[in-house]
This record gives sequence, structure tokens and C-alpha cells, in this order.
Amino acid sequence: MSQRDNLSKNSKRSSSARKVPKDSRTKSDRIKSESGPKRRRLNPGQTGERAFAGQKDRYVKRVKVFSGESGLSASDWNMPVAVSVETEEQLEAVLGEKAVSRIYIDEACFGIPGRDAGGKPGKGKAGEQEAEALAKIINEIHDAGKEAGLRLRRIERDTDPGLGSLSLLRGLIKLGAAPDMLLIRTFDEAMMVSDLETSETGNKGLNHIRKIFDYTCYGYNTEAVSMLRELGAEELTYPIELNYRECLSLRRAVRALPDEELSEMPYEILVYGHLPMMVSANCIRKTSAGCDHKNRFMILRDRMQKDMPVRCYCKYCYNQIFNAEPLVLYDLPEDIRSLEPERLRYDFSVETGTEVRKILSGAIPKDITRGHFRHGVE
Ligand SMILES: [Zn+2]
Repeated sequence: MSQRDNLSKNSKRSSSARKVPKDSRTKSDRIKSESGPKRRRLNPGQTGERAFAGQKDRYVKRVKVFSGESGLSASDWNMPVAVSVETEEQLEAVLGEKAVSRIYIDEACFGIPGRDAGGKPGKGKAGEQEAEALAKIINEIHDAGKEAGLRLRRIERDTDPGLGSLSLLRGLIKLGAAPDMLLIRTFDEAMMVSDLETSETGNKGLNHIRKIFDYTCYGYNTEAVSMLRELGAEELTYPIELNYRECLSLRRAVRALPDEELSEMPYEILVYGHLPMMVSANCIRKTSAGCDHKNRFMILRDRMQKDMPVRCYCKYCYNQIFNAEPLVLYDLPEDIRSLEPERLRYDFSVETGTEVRKILSGAIPKDITRGHFRHGVE
């Protein structure tokens, strides 16, 4: 199955730097093909949510099986390590890891707002609580001596409950708990941030927040990289759709650029994480049990009987389907080092706290994928 991340049509802007194949299939077709012939067939016009309705709604309690082999531990690399976390348990685990110097928390996973007096989620008092909850976590990360990054939501809509990303940022700045950096995943977010910087009424505090562009902002050649720089990128993430050789030639080409801001562009490289395969802007719970706006995992079984974790970010009611096997590259130190990344990154999504610690210690899960990294290598 392709790891290409099919952005939902509800995502307002997609990368112009990236070749997105014209996919004429509807979302329900895609969900049907993901779930395979053994699943309930969808009739034309039937929505994708119905396909999920028959899925057993349960948390992922599946425990990772480890192979017994190991790669480098996070501390063995002797270079800066960033992690992204989606649960309190993962956060707890990485706060205690010496090797981790930067923690990205996902905006969609923390500070889930309560209800205000009118029963509405998020604005007013409940909005303050949301910012306060995230500020508390950012302070905790700082107290642990690490950089705190905020990863913005994948899809932002006017109808999202709670604070918009901008209001949340303003709230954090006001509380004196601005994140050190933003991990930006869409061009909407990049523009939102730059609009704020340039507007006269904008909060000047934002100028001090570094902008890291994630692999979803696809900079696969020097033209794209220079455009990302114009959009405000101060650090980039290696595209996950390039193989090792392509990453290497990208790095060399970027290094050769005359503009120092570009040639010295720092790169993060993902060495661990379940890669997202699809983002859906529709809440899959709304049509089954009804949505309670809590965050949870569900399982989607494909025709190969592989269980793919589905993350319901019901703070904002969008879903992400992850690959069943995580990308693992932390046992390929020579290849990784030759790409001269400034920092390694581990993206945690479905892992328990214990699994997070094991992975950071170098243990390799039994079932893994190399993503595109090994494509074309003999
Ligand atoms: Zn929902």
C-alpha cells in the first residue's frame, strides 16, 4: 500500500511544490480500497463513514513485538534528538530521556477544552483553559531542560471547536509560555504565521518562534526548498517520499546554493514513526457511536489482515490513518549520517510509554517498514 499521504479535499491548500497525482476517485472509493474486499462493500454515493461504522470501536491495546535486534539508541548518535508525542504517557516517557533535546507536542492531542457555561466548547473561559493546559505542558518541557515545539493541527476549519491555532498561540504568548518553535505541516499554517508577523496588530512575540517545516511541506528540489524558505522555513524535514540516493542529492544540491540561508538550511530526519497514509476531515465517530470529542485510536483492518491504527483527533474531529508498520531507520547510522541532518526525529503516535523508552533505547520492532528510503537500493 502506498504511503503517499492522500490529503483530504477539505484541506484547503495543498503543496504546489509537490506532485499530487490527480485522483479522480472519491473518498468513499479510497476508504473502500483501503479496507479491502472482505469488508462491507460501499454502494455508490454511500459515505466513507459508514464503512467505519461496522468497525469495532476500541483502543489500540496491541503491544508491539520487538525483534530482539537493535539499532542505535537515541544517545548513541551523539547528535540532537527531537521527538513528537501525542499522549500524556508518551510525554511522560520522553521528559525523562536525557538524549531528547526537543519535544513537539501536537496541538490536536493536548489541552482538550471543556465546555463553557453555555455548553459550547472552547471559546471564552474554556478557551483560556485550553491555552493554560498547553502552557503548563510547555513549562514542564522547559523545566526538563528541553526545547518545546508545538505541532499544529493537520486541518483547520472555521467550525473547529476550541481556539484556532492563532488564538491559541496568542494565548500562550500572553501566558509567557510561547513554544520555542512551530512544526508546520501545511502551507495554510505557514501563511497564517507569516500574516501574523507582518500585520501591524500582530503579536510581535511570534517573531521569536522558530518555524520548522514538516515533511508534509514537500521540498524535494532546490526550487521547492527556496520557496519554503520564502514562506518562512528556518528548518526543514527530509521528505519521506524520497529514497536515500534522492535525499543525498537533495542535500548536496541545497549545500551548493549560493544563498547561505539556503545552503546552511538545517534538516531534521525522521528515523522512527508510523507514517500517516490518509487524513480524513470527517469524524468517523459521528455516524457510529456519536462523537464525545475525546481523542482515541481505532483499528482499520486491511485485506492483508493488517491492523492500521486510526487516530481520531476529536478535539477537532479529524482522523488520520497510519501505516500498520512503523518506519525504522535508526539502525542505518552510516546512511543517516551521510545525509548530515542537524537533528534526528522520532514521531510517536500509537506507542505506549514503555514502547517509547524501548524504541529510544534502540530496540527494533518485529514488523517495520523502510518507507521509500530503501527504494532503488540493491
Ligand atoms: Zn469527532
